[in-house]
Amino acid sequence: MITLRHVAKQFGSGTKALEDIDAEIQPGDFVALLGPSGCGKSTLLRLLSGLEHPSSGEIDWGHNGPPAPGEIGYVFQDPTLLPWADAAENVYLPLRLRGVSRAAAMPRVSAILKQMGLAGFEQAKPKSLSGGMKMRVSIARALVSKPSLLLLDEPFAALDEFTRHRLQDDLLALWRESRMTVIFVTHSIYEAAYLASQIIIMTSRPGRIFTTITSDLQDEAQRRNSPAYHTTVSQITECFQRSVPA
Ligand code: ADP
Repeated sequence: MITLRHVAKQFGSGTKALEDIDAEIQPGDFVALLGPSGCGKSTLLRLLSGLEHPSSGEIDWGHNGPPAPGEIGYVFQDPTLLPWADAAENVYLPLRLRGVSRAAAMPRVSAILKQMGLAGFEQAKPKSLSGGMKMRVSIARALVSKPSLLLLDEPFAALDEFTRHRLQDDLLALWRESRMTVIFVTHSIYEAAYLASQIIIMTSRPGRIFTTITSDLQDEAQRRNSPAYHTTVSQITECFQRSVPA
């Protein structure tokens, strides 16, 4: 379990990005960090990667301590693929950097590309892939080392709505199958309501948690049409209305 106690982050520039953040993330949770631009979502995600540290307060990682770099997968809005390398080589990269031989890695690389719907595209270069496919490669690269914690920073924000819906469904299927902990930054109320088991609603200047909503929609079929999904969307919308000072 990850526990945040009174976590604050102030940058050298003086900007106070986060203040008094208290949260508990259980193993296997799908957490959405939801809020307007600039409220500190990405900063909080970086703190949760263990790569940056709070200015005050603490993050307690439980008895195993912070995850090792190989136990974390990171996905950004920009897929950041190597343009000269094909899909398989891009996915192999994190394993290559850890000294795993190509021969040992390729079965896993092919399996994860297949799981992401990219069988047959192993040799394709990024410039020949659509935006959605590039994001699939980026997610495959994050998953290739079998992380226990997957951090995603607005990964679908630049995609068209049809592609975004498909990738949201694929991500949910992956999460259900692996039961890894997923922390997902978004500024979309609909995306947070659709995906997450725990929705942390943040407000700006400095970023604070306004409230947390839990949701158990995950196993429902046809969720986009379900009353429970629409109730969660209304609940979140109402929280945002309450979070803005009169
Ligand atoms: P969000 O992800 O919600 O859009 P960010 O976490 O990116 O918000 O940023 C929160 C605030 O912290 C913003 O005002 C941003 O300008 C500032 N900020 C983020 N990173 C840095 C940094 N490295 N140095 C100084 N200020 C930063």
